[in-house]
Amino acid sequence: MKARFTSARTQTILAILLSSALVTAQTRIVPPDNGYSPAQDVELGRQAAAQVRQELPLLRDDLVTSYVDGLGRRLVAAIPSELRHPEFRYTFDVVNVREINAFALPGGPMFVNRGMIEAARDEGEIAGVMAHELSHVLLRHGTAQATKATKYEIGAIAGQVLGAIVGGTAGSIIAQGSNFGISTYFMKFSREYESQADILGVQLMARAGYNPQSMANMFQTLAKQGGGGPEWLSDHPNPGNREQRILQEARLLNATNNPSGNTPEFQRAQARLKGMSPALTAKDIQQQNQRRQPTGTSGRTVNVAPPSGSYRTYQPSNGMRVAVPANWDAVQSGGNSVTYAPQGAYFSGDNGGGSAFTHGVEVGVAQGTGDLQRDTNSLLRNFAQSNPDLQQSGRARNESVAGRSGITVDLANVSEVTGQPEYISLSTTELRNGGLLYIIGVAPRTEAGTYQDAFRRIRQNIQVADR
Ligand SMILES: [Zn+2]
Repeated sequence: MKARFTSARTQTILAILLSSALVTAQTRIVPPDNGYSPAQDVELGRQAAAQVRQELPLLRDDLVTSYVDGLGRRLVAAIPSELRHPEFRYTFDVVNVREINAFALPGGPMFVNRGMIEAARDEGEIAGVMAHELSHVLLRHGTAQATKATKYEIGAIAGQVLGAIVGGTAGSIIAQGSNFGISTYFMKFSREYESQADILGVQLMARAGYNPQSMANMFQTLAKQGGGGPEWLSDHPNPGNREQRILQEARLLNATNNPSGNTPEFQRAQARLKGMSPALTAKDIQQQNQRRQPTGTSGRTVNVAPPSGSYRTYQPSNGMRVAVPANWDAVQSGGNSVTYAPQGAYFSGDNGGGSAFTHGVEVGVAQGTGDLQRDTNSLLRNFAQSNPDLQQSGRARNESVAGRSGITVDLANVSEVTGQPEYISLSTTELRNGGLLYIIGVAPRTEAGTYQDAFRRIRQNIQVADR
């Protein structure tokens, strides 16, 4: 009796030793440097996911969605403790679209295309792509990439973050990865990050009881596919010897004999999808979205006198002086901003919808952190939320604003009043109290040349006494 007890204990100890040997045998993945907080990952991902849910048709079918959610949960349960971010919220949605693709956003939201589930030959193949996507999330590759870019290229980053949030027409998300869109930013990674996601993905699969060989198989399937397949591969480029590297890691983990996951649940989910009417293509969805676009007051004709050459100075708040063309009035003030516009250019939005102006400037103060580039990016994201067509059109420039160093960036938008393209110039600078001073100039694109000079004079001559 006693001897057997001892032997059982010895076995337990052996098992523990073995499992720790297993842990040291696996390749150690170190998350890249990241200047963002995990909470910022969550916020960025949340905003982008909201946009995705608005623009892409999610599959509403309990059997399939709970099946995919179950796969996701199984992988989440396998996340090693050092990569668990308590603030992350993992969600797994199925997008009812034909292309074979999947993507994940910072902080946890993941979207798997119906086409991916239909193309998989076993559950492990779906899990393989999901494990790879989840690894990008855990290693925080989206914001790590943003961190690197901010150091060198404020212009690109502002545009990309903005594009990440607003650029997402269905097409740019799913079909045209090279476009200015969510994919450009959060889903297109360097080979180094790809290699990390492959290896961590194998580790997650092994811990979840899958055979990582399935991941390599799915990558081969993607490579052979037309249509959506190459799209995933262009966002997730082959870091070199992809299949071999996956199998090598799988062997290190003794996971090559795990089951492939040809489960009854997998069979049921595929049968269910087969019984449905075929999914639309990303292109179909994009066209549908474009037809849906025009709303509200759009289509109005606006006639406005050009900016006067003489200027009038306003004092919107203590310590702030703003000089604007003499034929502009303060048409709206409230919260932390004031709008100056010529007659006929301001629409109060009384009959539904928000207020809007077609010509003029808005001057305001937003909350800042002392980091001008980052604050400008988050302001852009903020505007993008209420202006879905907003896009960066030029590079951000370092230009003096209110007599201090500032950033100016040109944007393109579609006026919600006229339905026509409009030119937007955004300038920012930090205030000494930590606030972010911003000046947004707006004019129809066809009149941009007439207004650019006025916008420049306004941002250069604005005075703030914040000492
Ligand atoms: Zn990847």
